[in-house]
Amino acid sequence: MKIICVGKNYLDHVKEFDNKIPKEPIIFTKPDTAVLRKGFDFYIPDFSSNIHYEVEILVKICKVGKNIQAKFSHKYYESIGIGIDFTARDLQTSLKENRLPWALAKGFDDAAVISDFIPKEQYKDVQNINFSLSLNGEVKQSGNTKDMLFSIDKIIAYISKYITLKKGDIIYTGTPSGVGPVSVGDKIACAIENQNLINLEIK
Ligand code: MG
Repeated sequence: MKIICVGKNYLDHVKEFDNKIPKEPIIFTKPDTAVLRKGFDFYIPDFSSNIHYEVEILVKICKVGKNIQAKFSHKYYESIGIGIDFTARDLQTSLKENRLPWALAKGFDDAAVISDFIPKEQYKDVQNINFSLSLNGEVKQSGNTKDMLFSIDKIIAYISKYITLKKGDIIYTGTPSGVGPVSVGDKIACAIENQNLINLEIK
């Protein structure tokens, strides 16, 4: 199983950073060791003092595919979930400044929080789903998948041009605005359409 992520896929989040609107999806990966084990809390690693949460809708690939046409992408996933793309922002910033790959800032252990998956049929339209992240009971991020710069179908088509998708692979589809730092003791909850799917504490 591999984890493939899309960066800068919501305009309001792009504006939080450098304002460069991508012409094609920005793709990066996390290793499978980044998955936070179910039911475990998140421990702030000692190499960062600025870990950010990024809530994202996840897609789970259900069969192998290469060079998938966007019009057929829907056949390659049956369920969606919600996740947190934890990011060591301080590390990422210094790596970017030095024009170095920022793999470690996104791929460290426990940097990928993944909810249970829900059959996509439960939603009228996967490109019109509300999702949110709350920190200590206060909503910090709320997005709707209709605001993606690149739709799920386009993302699957784009990735599969370069990388074969396999059953069980998970795609992070980008975060809306409102990303921010976590502190010890924070409680994070993530929901799709008011259904809470992630609850964890920062330690
Ligand atoms: Mg992200």
